[in-house]
Amino acid sequence: MKKNKKIAVLPGDGIGPEVMKEALKVLEKVKKKYGLDFELKFGDIGGIAIDKYDHPLPEQTKNLCLNSVAVLLGSIGGPKWDNYPPEKNPEIGGLLGLRKLLNLYVNLRPVVLYERLKENSPLSEKITESDIDIITVRELSQGIYFSKPKNLTDNEGYDTMRYDRQTVNRIAKSGFEIAKSRRRKITSVDKANVLYSSKLWRKTVSEISKNYPEVELTHMYVDNAAMQLILNPSQFDVILTTNLFGDILSDESAAISGSLGMIPSASFGKGNINLYEPAGGSAPDIAGKGIANPVAQILSLAMMLEYSFGLKEAANDVREAVKKTVNEGYGTIDIVKNKKYVLSTSEMGDSIAEKI
Ligand code: NAD
Repeated sequence: MKKNKKIAVLPGDGIGPEVMKEALKVLEKVKKKYGLDFELKFGDIGGIAIDKYDHPLPEQTKNLCLNSVAVLLGSIGGPKWDNYPPEKNPEIGGLLGLRKLLNLYVNLRPVVLYERLKENSPLSEKITESDIDIITVRELSQGIYFSKPKNLTDNEGYDTMRYDRQTVNRIAKSGFEIAKSRRRKITSVDKANVLYSSKLWRKTVSEISKNYPEVELTHMYVDNAAMQLILNPSQFDVILTTNLFGDILSDESAAISGSLGMIPSASFGKGNINLYEPAGGSAPDIAGKGIANPVAQILSLAMMLEYSFGLKEAANDVREAVKKTVNEGYGTIDIVKNKKYVLSTSEMGDSIAEKI
């Protein structure tokens, strides 16, 4: 385990503080079981930071994150701040500001469909018969969201999709490394039949694959990938793709899991400070009611243990505890229909923590 054990904890807005409390409960159990010590430092980001410091990413939060090994984030935003100008908007000034500060370029979003939640999945029983366990490795720093020129006039709007070799090289390496630690299958998704940026993507990924002979590489066009995710999701292990395609496909694969409250994410950067956060937002519609699903936050914690601290066994312990609780039939109201088995946010945290 790394010597520096500083974690910046940013609970954020809406359900963020509620689900973060449960993740920290689980961390306490992990600390006791494995005899570990972490230094937790709390900070404000998003709407709460605007209210306190008039900025969604105040200097003290920036410094806190830059002096940590990992950032564990809750969620950001809410109707109160939605119409603030871009630099003060919680998501743009806060979350995108944080991603930029940490130079993040890889986003990982794992999706597992638990046995008990198969009935919640929008996919038919026949399709969910086989195990579904997919991780999307999405490029975060280039592509159509950032490339120039882009402009909007009264008569036209345009964006540029550009990728350079160096950027594809580094995301491909991340994808192959992740694949090596899983079932060793990688599907690189592009649109190389039409787009030049995708032709470069495909060529570069193929070159990198030569360094990973143990990983099986398949190339797939994005339109086919969108279809295959619904028709035969079990065929996928690692999906490696661009910023735009990853944004869309990772949401599609999240829908398969039965609830947004189940999906964690991790983002890695140049500077070795990683960010871990649930895939969903601050869920203002359920905030303060004690019914939010803490699993996405708890599984984000598991990703942090594995990727930032090299504690794979502890991370898998947390994942097993989540799986057991869910497969026993218990869960928050977004995943359980039978009232007898519905747990509050805090009961769900207890149930997971006690299995560690
Ligand atoms: P959302 O993800 O917050 O909610 C969408 C739906 O999913 C809601 O019905 C919500 O109740 C449900 N949901 C989400 N997480 C859940 C959980 N853990 N347990 C149970 N149900 C859950 O998306 P939205 O409603 O479009 O956005 C709400 C706010 O969150 C907005 O201000 C938006 O800007 C912000 N947002 C933040 C992030 C982030 O912090 N990374 C991401 C997306 C949206």
